[in-house]
Amino acid sequence: PENGGCGSTDTGVKVIVRMRPLSNNEEGETIVQKTSGDSLSMLGQQFTFDHVADVKSTQIDIFQVVGAPLVENCLAGFNSSIFAYGQTGSGKTFTIWGPANTLLEDISSSNEQGLTPRVFARLFSRINEEQNKHVDKQLMYQCRCSFLEIYNEQITDLLNPSQRNLHLREDIKTGVYVENLTEETICSMKDVTQLLKKGLSNRRTGSTSLNSESSRSHSVFTCVVESSCKSLDGLRCFKTSRMNLVDLAGSERQKLTGAAGDRLKEAGNINRSLSQLGNLINILAEVSQTGKQRHIPYRDSKLTFLLQESLGGNAKLAMICAISPAQSCKNETFSTLRFAQRAK
Ligand code: ADP
Ligand code: MG
Repeated sequence: PENGGCGSTDTGVKVIVRMRPLSNNEEGETIVQKTSGDSLSMLGQQFTFDHVADVKSTQIDIFQVVGAPLVENCLAGFNSSIFAYGQTGSGKTFTIWGPANTLLEDISSSNEQGLTPRVFARLFSRINEEQNKHVDKQLMYQCRCSFLEIYNEQITDLLNPSQRNLHLREDIKTGVYVENLTEETICSMKDVTQLLKKGLSNRRTGSTSLNSESSRSHSVFTCVVESSCKSLDGLRCFKTSRMNLVDLAGSERQKLTGAAGDRLKEAGNINRSLSQLGNLINILAEVSQTGKQRHIPYRDSKLTFLLQESLGGNAKLAMICAISPAQSCKNETFSTLRFAQRAK
């Protein structure tokens, strides 16, 4: 929700629903229709969000709605994040990184490229602009990236996958961090592209009897942006903010039936971490609407603990809820729309 444009205290979550086209093997009529720039109807029920994107919306449109503001918020000093939420196959990965076939080939040249490469292209050009504008203050930026996966409540370093089960630590000065996680300084799009390729190829995909391709892990790409400049009294001042791009695990409930042992435990963990993110976002939305203090349960899951500083306080959040318009996805789509509605 907007706060009337009165400055930067808006802690609300920006909620965008993105509907992908029907795929080749989905038949029949679409059951969701966009009805205006910020509303849609599904089987007679109306829903309103901050923005609705249907099949006519391009990757560039999505970048303009959430990507460009992410960069501006980050440069203004706010921790800023974009999450993609939705059932497996709804378009989360397409939105955050780009279509699967271009991911590992040429990320930078496709006009279907997803948010992440576009965000970094914008970040670099804006950093250049700012540095040139403030030469007198010796304004300098430095960007460091990490890429990790949370699967079954375990953190794996996607830039060095031999590092599994990394630990979250908390430091009074630097806050929450992942011990031993690879962090690489990036200076150009080439650096980013290389990191993305490396990380994406190390992601894991789970398989069960029911859904062989389903993605059961959260992928988190983080960039720490540090700036330093000379202030009037000649001292150097430093500013740090972070940007997170998060491709969440499929939001469909993992079936507990038929699973045993490790699989049963995994399914439970995945359901829990998504519902905890959902609860947290509800609480944040409520706090920002009512201004009431509430206990915020960051420590309930690895994902929320890791992103603690990027979720509360002055942090900026955008949640892209991806849906399919197919009849066969009705229940999951409805449940995603309810989630999206509650996040507002
Ligand atoms: P998820 O990550 O949610 O499981 P994907 O991003 O892999 O889903 O999308 C599933 C399929 O649909 C992919 O083949 C993808 O390229 C395609 N797709 C998703 N969103 C769109 C879109 N907006 N336009 C065209 N194709 C899309
Ligand atoms: Mg995916």
